[in-house]
Amino acid sequence: MINTSYIYLDNASTTRVDDKVIKEMIPFMSEFYGNSSSSHALGIETNKNIIIARQNVAKLFNAEPKEIIFTSGATEAINTIFKGLVASNRTKRSQIITVTTEHSAVLDTCKYLEEIGVDVIYMPVLESGLIDLCELRKVISEKTLLVSVMLVNNETGVIQPVKEVTEIAREFGALMMTDATQAVGKISIDVQDIDVDYLVFSGHKFHGPKGIGGYYHNSKAFNFQPLIHGGGQEKGRRSGTLNVPGIIGLGKSCEICLNEIEKNKSSIKKLRDLLENELLVIEGAFINGDKENRVYNILNISFPDIEADILIKMLNNICVSNGSACHSELIEPSHVLRAMGLSNKDAFSSIRFSLSKYNTEDEILYTIKKVKEIIYQLKTSNYA
Ligand code: PLP
Repeated sequence: MINTSYIYLDNASTTRVDDKVIKEMIPFMSEFYGNSSSSHALGIETNKNIIIARQNVAKLFNAEPKEIIFTSGATEAINTIFKGLVASNRTKRSQIITVTTEHSAVLDTCKYLEEIGVDVIYMPVLESGLIDLCELRKVISEKTLLVSVMLVNNETGVIQPVKEVTEIAREFGALMMTDATQAVGKISIDVQDIDVDYLVFSGHKFHGPKGIGGYYHNSKAFNFQPLIHGGGQEKGRRSGTLNVPGIIGLGKSCEICLNEIEKNKSSIKKLRDLLENELLVIEGAFINGDKENRVYNILNISFPDIEADILIKMLNNICVSNGSACHSELIEPSHVLRAMGLSNKDAFSSIRFSLSKYNTEDEILYTIKKVKEIIYQLKTSNYA
């Protein structure tokens, strides 16, 4: 039995699938179950709908349909691009530049590449979480193969100046990738404008299904080795039978994003600002992340002397998250907040609220009340 009495404020982690997306997907698990590569009538019918879905994804990014490759999500897309570029590096450039606050999908792929001899530079960030473009100019050179800077940070919502980063990468002849996983559906993305070579995304972050995502590749960009070899699907760039229901759902969620983005922006921002202003009243509370360059659905806030883990447990059916990760039974503070200069203690006192179009004012008012009550309780007891 599904418990519907949750207040879900963990939308940077994953989102509820839009009912319109589910409706669109169902026929592709029942009557239109054909393999989109088959040349019979059912295959052709399925493929027609894959073409439409690809057009919808491309439209959201102002790209060409042929520039969209479907994968199981952002993690696979990131692995494909990084490892593929290194494997096919005909220009013999030997360096990757990324940032300390990237998602583990990027950082762990880089760690692996370092083990096989690739030179990786991890750029620091300012206290605001923004990168310093002067730092980039200091480290980039003719040796740089790829610069990878995320568009929106998953913990703080900080928006990086990707267009400016691309301009610098171009000056040195380096390729540019952006992880747009947290940006899609929240901010408008125009790949012609930000001019990146590669951009990755995951459907479940914007009310699409899990297990489907992909990447945009500029048709003029370097064509690298695929990660997955086999039946030659996706023009040989990603073999394996296409996840038809997933792709149909992804296409629909992109179409919905395009139609709703402006409307959702103002209503979500209103709720996030209400939450933020009310929680900042709590003594010592502070926001993590640049105030101006921050996406409107995320609030990362520290409550000094409060252990976020305890607060999260006590919030019970209010689903929020913190950035700490469990590695071999050791809980580590968020690498993002540490990179921004927070002490371990303050990082362990930080909580991320991430909102979506499904949140209501009543939910936010209830959350504010509960957070205030619990923090008061913790401060006046032995927990704090
Ligand atoms: N990049 C960012 C910024 C993310 O937030 C996530 C997921 O949390 C990923 C990459 C990986 O996405 P997925 O697990 O869907 O592959």
